[in-house]
Amino acid sequence: MPFTARRAALRALLPGAGVDALLVTDLVNVRYLSGFTGSNAALLVHADGDDRSRICTDGRYATQVAAEVPDLAAVIERACAVELAKRAAKLSVERLGFESDVVTVDGYEALVEAAGGVPLVRAPGLVQRLRAVKDAAEVEALRRACSVGDAALAELLEAGGLRPGRTEREVALDLENRMRAHGADGPAFPTILAAGANSAVPHHRPTDAQLQRGDLVKIDFGALVDGYHSDMTRTLVLGPAADWQRELHALVAEAQAAGRAALVPGAEVTRVDAAARDVVERAGRGDQFVHGLGHGVGLQIHEAPYVGRTGTGSLAAGMVVTVEPGVYLEGKGGVRIEDTLVVRDADPELLTHTTRELLEV
Ligand code: ZN
Ligand code: ZN
Repeated sequence: MPFTARRAALRALLPGAGVDALLVTDLVNVRYLSGFTGSNAALLVHADGDDRSRICTDGRYATQVAAEVPDLAAVIERACAVELAKRAAKLSVERLGFESDVVTVDGYEALVEAAGGVPLVRAPGLVQRLRAVKDAAEVEALRRACSVGDAALAELLEAGGLRPGRTEREVALDLENRMRAHGADGPAFPTILAAGANSAVPHHRPTDAQLQRGDLVKIDFGALVDGYHSDMTRTLVLGPAADWQRELHALVAEAQAAGRAALVPGAEVTRVDAAARDVVERAGRGDQFVHGLGHGVGLQIHEAPYVGRTGTGSLAAGMVVTVEPGVYLEGKGGVRIEDTLVVRDADPELLTHTTRELLEV
């Protein structure tokens, strides 16, 4: 069970945070540490071990929590965080950490009251820090999610699903349905399908605009598999590419390759961003690359680390990040190429395998 090991890793961080227990109220963090997938839960992870740790959820999930979290004592109560805070003293907690980056002001006041005399201590981001480095089970889930994305796009292209006359919305829905057919629980996020001038809008939402011959078509999409998200972008051309489209694609591909090559343990995220951005800047298009280079991906589509000019920290082996430079010519068209990779001691492991060559369909 990876969850036992994850809770042990969290325990090791508690002394540094000055607490002997952490009240976990972020549902994604609860899932990461316990495997519980319900919509209402909190977890108290005690430094002494699982015997003094508790998971709380409400009556709707009594059966589910027993099945998903057989290794922790469950408390069934509606107000989960408050209930676990009430029990802190009984569980011999002396300083109760809480996720101050998650709890609201009102929620905090309720916790203080519930905890009685046990002091509450801010402990933000501890689980997110752990989540940034993926274990083997997580990499396997991400690998599956990415392969569903690859398979769905290949199938869409083979079936002639990308053709003039179809709308952005139709193609996006087609791709999402194919991901489901390949085993995804759904799309990892609303598919970005942007044709022609719309491709210059980084996060364009699909419209009823029809695809036309000669359009750049930017597809940014992913699959959700076992709670894990895949993320890939490819930009294709409907019909033979014009010279400017070919040149733009080649520039972004070069920047993307430089970014991937910079993915080594210990590299500062700002340096990784700069490796790709320098290529775009040298071509005089720096101001048309309007976002960061990439982000961590896992139980959330965007999670630590943020790989951009304003990011902080360094990469470590086992992190899973995207590399997604884009250059956008307003009113004309844009190109983004995005892959998801695992940072390794040797070369990074590519999880998205669709060709990065410019496809003309
Ligand atoms: Zn994406
Ligand atoms: Zn992304």
